[in-house]
Amino acid sequence: MKDRESSSNTPVAHLADHSVGRVRFVDLQIQMDALEPEVSRAVARVLHNCDFILGSDVEAFESEFAEYCGVEHCVGVDSGMSALELILRAADVGPGDEVITQANTFIATVASIQAVGATPVLVDCDGRGDIDVAAVADAVTPRTRAIVPVHLFGRICDIASINEIAARAGVDVFEDAAQAHGARLGDGRAGSFGLASAFSFYPGKNLGAAGDGGAVVTDSEILSDRLRTLRNYGQREKYVHIGVPMNRRLDSVQAAVLRLKLRHLDEWNAAREVLADAYRERLAAAGIDLPRREDPGRHVYHLFTIEVDGRDRLRNELSREGVETGIHYPVPCHQQPCVAHLGYRPDAFPMAESRARRTLSLPMFPELTSRDVDVVSDAVLRHCQR
Ligand SMILES: *Cc1c(COP(=O)(O)O)cnc(C)c1O
Repeated sequence: MKDRESSSNTPVAHLADHSVGRVRFVDLQIQMDALEPEVSRAVARVLHNCDFILGSDVEAFESEFAEYCGVEHCVGVDSGMSALELILRAADVGPGDEVITQANTFIATVASIQAVGATPVLVDCDGRGDIDVAAVADAVTPRTRAIVPVHLFGRICDIASINEIAARAGVDVFEDAAQAHGARLGDGRAGSFGLASAFSFYPGKNLGAAGDGGAVVTDSEILSDRLRTLRNYGQREKYVHIGVPMNRRLDSVQAAVLRLKLRHLDEWNAAREVLADAYRERLAAAGIDLPRREDPGRHVYHLFTIEVDGRDRLRNELSREGVETGIHYPVPCHQQPCVAHLGYRPDAFPMAESRARRTLSLPMFPELTSRDVDVVSDAVLRHCQR
């Protein structure tokens, strides 16, 4: 998705693209061009100090991101998947334990549960794509150790209900906040509602690194201590290794980039909300299911995802007109080959299956212009009304 169009050999490719009505799904280039001098200085500082591993930028980013999320601790790791997996390891979730999550998520949510040897227990989503709260309550068994709800597409899910079910069952809640950096509900930010929460800094995320990265945030001192040990070969003391030794550290170079991008996150998320409102206004007449308007800040629009019948045909038409789109996600997790051994029927989760057939994610990134939104919306309206 970050590949430049190979045919666009002009140095002002995105301007040229606009002139022919081309709209990229995500364009990382505009933002990187704007930040280039700052990014270069930050990276040069790390290189100059040779402060590559768990250096001062990692420490500074961890305290800045913890403060931003409104929690006590942040532990930087090498990806969002590692963040999820290490949370489960730190909480001693393993073989024989069940962890409940939703069928309509990116595979990392499920894979992290498999990685620690626990059993993923998948449930359906509701009409908006949130984990189905009633289904979660029904899925709890004496083996359940945790629930991992996903703030899918950037909107904070019904976390209060999930926390209630978990409290009644005596199990933990770990948020998959990999798409929801900075989203707000009441006084809290995504990541501050569960016992521990996972973030990804994959470049296309709302807060993206210049490569892979991730973080766990938590108020628990015990968990954060364990996470620091886990990510660094199980070392509390140098060359004494406990647990399952592994290397899951966040690079100083990535932390330096993340520190300066974090300062822009609220402004970028606000831009995404304005663009979402513009899409809603332009597309209101089309009889398409649109993400509904939320309280300010609750949805940070990592993705702007609509639902339509005839999705694949619409997607092809848009593509022909130069409008890039995405599908999140075309195959629900219970139909993935990697969980075949769990024996889910392919029609086990009707809502997740319907979404897999009907959702279409429209171009969305902070630098998208209202003219781009017009181009995309016009094209969608033209092809939906046929
Ligand atoms: C991106 C993502 C992850 C995994 O993040 P990586 O950094 O790519 O490992 C996990 N969960 C969700 C919902 C994501 O969107």
